[in-house]
Amino acid sequence: MPKRIAIVEDEAELASLLDYNLSHHGYETQVLAGSEGTLKTLENLKPDLILLDVMLPGPDGFELCRAIRQSAVLSRTPVLFLTARSDEVDRVLGLEIGGDDYMTKPFSTRELVARVRAHLRREDMGNEPAVFDLGRFHLDRGARRVFLDSRELTLTSTEFNLLEFFLTHPGRAYSREQLLESVWGEQRYVTPRTVDVHVRRLREQIEEQADAPRFLTTVRGFGYRFEGTP
Ligand code: CA
Repeated sequence: MPKRIAIVEDEAELASLLDYNLSHHGYETQVLAGSEGTLKTLENLKPDLILLDVMLPGPDGFELCRAIRQSAVLSRTPVLFLTARSDEVDRVLGLEIGGDDYMTKPFSTRELVARVRAHLRREDMGNEPAVFDLGRFHLDRGARRVFLDSRELTLTSTEFNLLEFFLTHPGRAYSREQLLESVWGEQRYVTPRTVDVHVRRLREQIEEQADAPRFLTTVRGFGYRFEGTP
């Protein structure tokens, strides 16, 4: 299920730039120009994250954010403010407003997409169960341990993150770039080759024959796929 992002922004050009970039990164987007009915629309939409401009024609972003925090449906939805002036930042971060983050215009869309991803990830972590079983695997997030049958795997932190990703996304093919983005995030100095190295190490731990993998298979010319129950 793609994550849904509401873009509440009355500057049409900026709104469509955000719309374009977020859609391109696989998000489902909805642009709202900000009017009296915006809160109602947001409640119907139930987005996973709200980008909220401060200066809007109807109620301003601060007023809207307060209403969002009081709404039964939206109160826990992350709100990322788009502010035009740095002196608005203090108010955004004020507790009574309840914004989660802010970007000061002009900002790079790349940075914005990175922040959006980080917030949505944090949300997911909070909602995911601490322990999780998939076929012969048992994942304990809190303890950061993975067991295959009852044997505990010896994993580095990155290997754990990568295996956790595969265990929670079985049966789908991922390119090296997608894996880098999802598992390594915004870290620099990692290349697609890094993924191959970690996949090889994981295979040594989880496969009976590392050169004939059954769980972590290669998708030729694309990347990798994890078979939860081969
Ligand atoms: Ca505006």
